[in-house]
Amino acid sequence: MSSKGKVNGFNLIKGVSYTVALSCCNISSLHKYLFEDSHSIDYSFSAAVAFLKNKQKEKFAVESNSIGQTEAKQLLIKRDVGKILKKLHEYRFFLPIEEELAKYEAFAKRFFKKYDIDLSNIPIRIVDEFPAPYSSVQASAMNFDIFDQEEFNIPMGISLHREYLAPFVSAAKVSHELVHSCFSNTYSHYLARGLEEGFCDLISFILTAKMFGFKVSVNLMLNSRFIYPQTQFLTTYVEAIRQVSIVYRQVGLGGMMDILRKGNRKGRVIMKELEEAIFTGWEGKLAGEFVRKGDRNPNVLRFLDFFIAYPYSLVVSPLAYFLAEKITVGASISEIIQTNRIDPFEGEEAVKELQQRVFLVLTEGDRIISDETKLFLKLNLLRYEI
Ligand SMILES: [Zn+2]
Repeated sequence: MSSKGKVNGFNLIKGVSYTVALSCCNISSLHKYLFEDSHSIDYSFSAAVAFLKNKQKEKFAVESNSIGQTEAKQLLIKRDVGKILKKLHEYRFFLPIEEELAKYEAFAKRFFKKYDIDLSNIPIRIVDEFPAPYSSVQASAMNFDIFDQEEFNIPMGISLHREYLAPFVSAAKVSHELVHSCFSNTYSHYLARGLEEGFCDLISFILTAKMFGFKVSVNLMLNSRFIYPQTQFLTTYVEAIRQVSIVYRQVGLGGMMDILRKGNRKGRVIMKELEEAIFTGWEGKLAGEFVRKGDRNPNVLRFLDFFIAYPYSLVVSPLAYFLAEKITVGASISEIIQTNRIDPFEGEEAVKELQQRVFLVLTEGDRIISDETKLFLKLNLLRYEI
């Protein structure tokens, strides 16, 4: 884990791993597993590569003749580590994190300026601790607004916690928080939540795609928002993206930026009115009042379709995932288990799991009579849990 007050190689690996199409359904658990019992490593390409290569070489914890859940988990994680290593090589000429963020900040603020929203007075600070009364808040970034300034004497602006700094991820946070900061100037009792979070995520998605590429931006979003199992609080963010997809389809990016510009002057009440309009009928007076029709980018629409359709619950145990790759229609289960040196008891249970938990397989006696796993494996939509 990254030590307090220091950005090290784990921050680098974490950031890069968010940009990869992982098969693991919980990126935080993956990091915990990878960095367990490890000492800090340098924030450098060679140190990160050496660390991950060592992880790939690790033998099974217990000498084992057959593959059970523990072994399947280790094999699948090694495969995900391979994906992270590949991405790390592509990202070889990375900048020091502070430089990457400064570059991204300038780019993001220029984007807002293009839409006549001036955020040049919003500083972005890297801090070792958030100011009181927020010092115990476990977050990677916070946006302090006029309320914080007047109530707690905290200067307005965005603070990024040094411990959580990571390439790509922190940049996405900066643009997310910049959208919140559009409402920082006006005092109100409204919360920064719901549809506003959707605005933050979608505009951040668009900016991150412009800066780092579409695939990087998609994976960042999937790894952050579809962690399984999910807390109820995290689900509110997923719902916010669904809600903002309605706004984007209606008014495009230009329209969304119009709404933010008005919010920049009038405050977050505008976001609350819009939220109500989504639930009570878009064709009401608000829709016309708000915006001109703006551009809709086909890639963004494709991402929103994919995000809305995403099968969050297609998650199985590592051995069930491992077995899904081996089974074929008509095959004998006991033969598959034997040929692939799978633990017979755990193997039988894993096949049952594919049938009962996600209904991708149908069996009759010892035979597989239906198999729908291949499509979801191909699309990387079936995931394993650790
Ligand atoms: Zn937010």
